[in-house]
Amino acid sequence: MPMVQIDKERCKGCERCNDACPQQILAMSQDLNEKGYPYSVVVDPWRCIGCRMCAIACPDLAIEVLSAGTQYEFFAY
Ligand code: SF4
Ligand code: SF4
Repeated sequence: MPMVQIDKERCKGCERCNDACPQQILAMSQDLNEKGYPYSVVVDPWRCIGCRMCAIACPDLAIEVLSAGTQYEFFAY
């Protein structure tokens, strides 16, 4: 099963990952991070398909998607 890791302290709450997820399984936290932003959380990890769209959409490289033992950090544009 893919695993999405979100570094909440890198998140600035822009919600781009929420919009990018085709499974609609990301949401914003009720809490704030140390910078004072709500951060993205995975609300239904079992439905993740490991597509990495969330990681690609994040301008702050706050998301890593681990799938089948391989760790993808971000696209090298
Ligand atoms: S890897 Fe794909 S399905 Fe999983 S949380 Fe990210 S965008 Fe959604
Ligand atoms: S795209 Fe990145 S910075 Fe924006 S809400 Fe998602 S994790 Fe946070």
